[in-house]
Amino acid sequence: MTLLETYEQNGVSKRIYDFGERVLASLRGRFEEIDRMAELNQGKVLHAMQTHRVDAACFAATTGYGYDDVGRERLEQVYATIFGAEAALVRPQITCGTHALTVALSANLLPGDELLSPVGLPYDTLQEVIGIQPSPCSLAEYGVTYRQADLLPDGSFDYDAIRAAINEKTKLITIQRSKGYATRPSFSVAQIGELIAFCKSIKPDVLVMVDNCYGEFVEPIEPTEVGADMCVGSLIKNPGGGLAPIGGYICGAKTCVERCAYRLSAPGLGQEVGANLGILPSFYQGLFLAPTVTAGALKGAVFAAACYERLGFRVVPASAEPRHDIIQAVELGSEAGMRAFCRGIQAAAPVDSYVEPIPWAMPGYEDEVIMAAGAFVQGSSIELSADGPIRPPYAVYFQGGLTWYHAKLGILRSLQSMADAGLLPEPEIL
Ligand SMILES: *Cc1c(COP(=O)(O)O)cnc(C)c1O
Repeated sequence: MTLLETYEQNGVSKRIYDFGERVLASLRGRFEEIDRMAELNQGKVLHAMQTHRVDAACFAATTGYGYDDVGRERLEQVYATIFGAEAALVRPQITCGTHALTVALSANLLPGDELLSPVGLPYDTLQEVIGIQPSPCSLAEYGVTYRQADLLPDGSFDYDAIRAAINEKTKLITIQRSKGYATRPSFSVAQIGELIAFCKSIKPDVLVMVDNCYGEFVEPIEPTEVGADMCVGSLIKNPGGGLAPIGGYICGAKTCVERCAYRLSAPGLGQEVGANLGILPSFYQGLFLAPTVTAGALKGAVFAAACYERLGFRVVPASAEPRHDIIQAVELGSEAGMRAFCRGIQAAAPVDSYVEPIPWAMPGYEDEVIMAAGAFVQGSSIELSADGPIRPPYAVYFQGGLTWYHAKLGILRSLQSMADAGLLPEPEIL
């Protein structure tokens, strides 16, 4: 069987396959850079695991209170070392990214304090956490106020607005690295570092939290290495390497992380409790694989950008731009386009390939959301997935792929699905 025949068997026509090969030929240099980044981060992860003497004892299950859990403690030390941080909280009891961010915020903000986002509106699910959208148990209900400085039209920081927004109540500044469901650029770690330095020059004792979702292992350093007091993310994204079935992490300053542990469990208990229930092998092995899994996802993102760009769609970031996360936004311009794109991604999945994704009301999201995901772990977006809220500019956010080859097939199938539906603006380009 030839490669083309495999693709044909998987629902990709020769025309789409050939188009993909032409696009791919232009990306070789880019892929080499991505591989080198994976190599660097692989070395970093290995060094951390060796430094903290990871061994078979770390993989044992604990139950009940989970006192003296060596595997849990060492995993947290490994994360702290990788992130260049004093401490880390890495737990299966953290349900998802939103939960990790909620723990970090509510542990470090007290009634009367103010939270500032200097990068515009935060990710959809955080709007209820903060109370921008009213919700029971929001930070607003507990007397924490919120202020925001929007980005300038070109996506850069509005330093004047940020300076004006920082006041005596400002306790914590939240910076979202990845674009989320917005078509703004994602920020590099260096840009985040500059923003942190600016904020701390105005108010030296202000705490900075970075929502690091989707950014891990894309660059040689993480935001904790440029002054972030907390760096927060989900284990069913990059750092879980596709193997972690649940979990979240908070890396950062010891004082902040300790408070997070008290908030997650209970005051007085903190990091000392929290049974691992036998899940740690997947956390360790997933972290070990995370740099290469992230690289596969990055290749998929660059390939998707290059394909859709050639066909006349606006993509963020553009194929030649540097990457700061694994997300690729493609503006499809219509709900029909979003549905066709997602149908293709879903059809390429190893799990649930036979279902058709349709827009749906999701908890935590204001608009209906369409999601294509045929994942081994429910909701895992380091696995090949595409999603987006049904609202202008009708952009899908494409991410993941545990292997580059799966990402490639998914993108080709999305193109096939768009072509079959007559939704490519200039089909003769193929
Ligand atoms: C995924 C994500 C989150 C958290 O989402 P969960 O689905 O709760 O894990 C938060 N912020 C950003 C930028 C994200 O991409």
